[in-house]
Amino acid sequence: MTQAAYKRVLLKLSGEALMGDDAYGINRATIERMVADVKEVAQLGVELAIVIGGGNIFRGVAPGAQGMDRATADYMGMLATVMNSLALADAMRQQGMTARVMSAISIEQVVEPYVRPKALQYLEEGKIVIFAAGTGNPFFTTDTAAALRGSEIGAQVVLKATKVDGVYSADPNKDPSATRYSSISFDEAISRHLQVMDATAFALCRDQKLPIRVFSIVKPGALARIVLGEDEGTLVHV
Ligand code: UDP
Repeated sequence: MTQAAYKRVLLKLSGEALMGDDAYGINRATIERMVADVKEVAQLGVELAIVIGGGNIFRGVAPGAQGMDRATADYMGMLATVMNSLALADAMRQQGMTARVMSAISIEQVVEPYVRPKALQYLEEGKIVIFAAGTGNPFFTTDTAAALRGSEIGAQVVLKATKVDGVYSADPNKDPSATRYSSISFDEAISRHLQVMDATAFALCRDQKLPIRVFSIVKPGALARIVLGEDEGTLVHV
C-alpha cells in the first residue's frame, strides 16, 4: 500500500464548494465527487476529520441577513453547516464509508453532540468525523472551528480546500502577475498581508504550531496527492 504522509488530518471544506456551478445549495454531482476524493484518502489509512461551512445556504454576515440581530443570523449559519454535514455524511454512506456527525450545538434528535473523547474514539476506529455547527458560538467562522477542532484532535495539518490552488502574492483573478507560494511561514504571510484564513483561525493555528495547507478542491486528485506528501497548493508553516 502507498504510504501516507499523515496519520490524522483536519479537512476544512467551505459550504460554497458544495454548490458546484449552482447559485445555492448542494449540487449532487459535486458532493459525490468530493466524497470520492475523501474516500481515496480514507483508503490510505489516514484518520480524517472534516469541518464544513454553510455559506452555500446561509451566512450570518450575508446581505440576506441585513438588519438581523447578528447572533441570531450566526446561529442560522451554524444550522446551515449542520445541513451540509448531514448531506456529506449521507453521501459518504452511499459510497460505503462510515461517518459520524458531531454538533457543537445541542440538537440531539438530529446529530450527536460533540464530545472530544468520542470523536477521538471514532477516528481511531477509522470512522470519518464531521464536525457540525462550527464552534457553537456566534461571531466565529468555520475556519476557526477547523483550527480549534484540528488542535483538539491533534491533527498534523489543517487542509483548507478552496476554489484557488493555494496562496498567491495577490488576487490571481485581478492581477495576472500574481504568483503562488509553494510554502510560506505564518510570520511572512502576516507581514505580506496575505489572507489565508480569517484572523482568529490563523492566530490559533500559529499559536498551536498547526500547519495549514491551502489547496484547490476543484483540481482532481489534489487531496490524495497532499496526503501522499506531494507538493500541492501552499503550505503555511511555523
Ligand atoms: N458560524 C458561526 N460560528 C461558527 C461557525 C459558523 O456563527 O463557529 C456561522 C456564521 O454566520 C457563518 C456561517 O455560520 O457565516 C457559515 O459558516 P462560514 O461562513 O464559515 O462557512 P463557509 O464560508 O466556509 O461556507
